[in-house]
Amino acid sequence: MAGCLFCAAPLRHTFVDLGMSPLCESYLTAEQLNQMEPFYPLHAYVCEQCFLVQVQEYVSPEGLFTEYAYFSSYSDSWLAHARAYAETITARLGLTAASRVIELGSNDGYLLQYFLAKGIPVLGVEPAKNVAAAAIGKGVPTVTKLFGRQTAQELMAEGVQADLLCAANVLAQVPDVNDFVGGMKLLLKPGGLITIEFPHLMRLIEENQFDTMYHEHFSYFSFTTAERIFAAHGLTLFDVEELPTHGGSLRIYVRHAEDSFKPMSDRAKNLRLREEATGFNRLERYASFAEQVHETKRRLLEFLIGAKRKGKRIAGYGAPGKGNTLLNYCGIRTDFLDYTVDRNPYKHGKFLPGTHIPIHPPEKIRETRPDYVLILPWNIKDEIMEQVSYIRSWGGQFVVPIPDVTVYP
Ligand SMILES: [Zn+2]
Repeated sequence: MAGCLFCAAPLRHTFVDLGMSPLCESYLTAEQLNQMEPFYPLHAYVCEQCFLVQVQEYVSPEGLFTEYAYFSSYSDSWLAHARAYAETITARLGLTAASRVIELGSNDGYLLQYFLAKGIPVLGVEPAKNVAAAAIGKGVPTVTKLFGRQTAQELMAEGVQADLLCAANVLAQVPDVNDFVGGMKLLLKPGGLITIEFPHLMRLIEENQFDTMYHEHFSYFSFTTAERIFAAHGLTLFDVEELPTHGGSLRIYVRHAEDSFKPMSDRAKNLRLREEATGFNRLERYASFAEQVHETKRRLLEFLIGAKRKGKRIAGYGAPGKGNTLLNYCGIRTDFLDYTVDRNPYKHGKFLPGTHIPIHPPEKIRETRPDYVLILPWNIKDEIMEQVSYIRSWGGQFVVPIPDVTVYP
């Protein structure tokens, strides 16, 4: 048993054990269905010292990230979120052609393209070659590397530092959080600003979002734990926004500890107090999560068994990582879901890892007219229910599994 990813204390307390699961981004081709498929324990622990919730690393980061099936630009709502952020932060910081914006985990350039359009110099750092290539194709300069102290030093040697250093939904996927945050400390200009978005552990627990846990996500942060980790690297969290994205995220604003021009905001003080008041500094707060997850599995299976007994046909919508955690943990295969659909053509004709549910283009739903559509990326359920609203013409209904199994006529 390895120690805590941040503070190295021994990990002795289970947060939730989701059993054995394949890597959630390893979509299979038809030929691969007949081969052995690796499954790894998906067991999350909480550290008794720093309360970082974490899943142990079983696969090398190179194996996880050289090819990545998630293209950020396939979600309209995520693009809109990125554009709004680019507008607001450009105004807040007064970014100009003399500034530089660096994004870590820049994916296919979905965010940096908006800064580029304003004439602000940008640089992406993205370890997955295929999505980085898509970014470069859009004219977004991108370094294809894992980020850490070494990459930061290499960039600094070329005279590159950031006025704005940002990362969205990347921190959880960092195998060595100390190296990553240490690299940020180096790459940030003296008066610069870091913003980082990550799913908020408080919301994960309160809203039962256990399916956002997967092998590619090593850690899950409260505001308080994030504050502790950044402080250890000479960085101070001085402001925070609570966002609706990914079921409830934080966008933290971080400065050099030495940079006293940015005072602690009331939002940051209040959130810290709220976490304290709801027990995020005590182990007991984490201990009840597992039973809540077990009960969700029972309720979802109850619904699906009932529907199948009535002869109903059920299709999935989406093939996100979180869907794979949910389906594998609950043991839902083609015995319940005939197929799933996704807008990302990269996934068409492939199969979900572990459950081997086929992935089709969205038009398949119109052709086959299922009674129920199970929405796997529940964080964008409104967008999906609008896109696929035509299922109502034959009496089809939507099912959303999280936070609780809910049917939408
Ligand atoms: Zn720890």
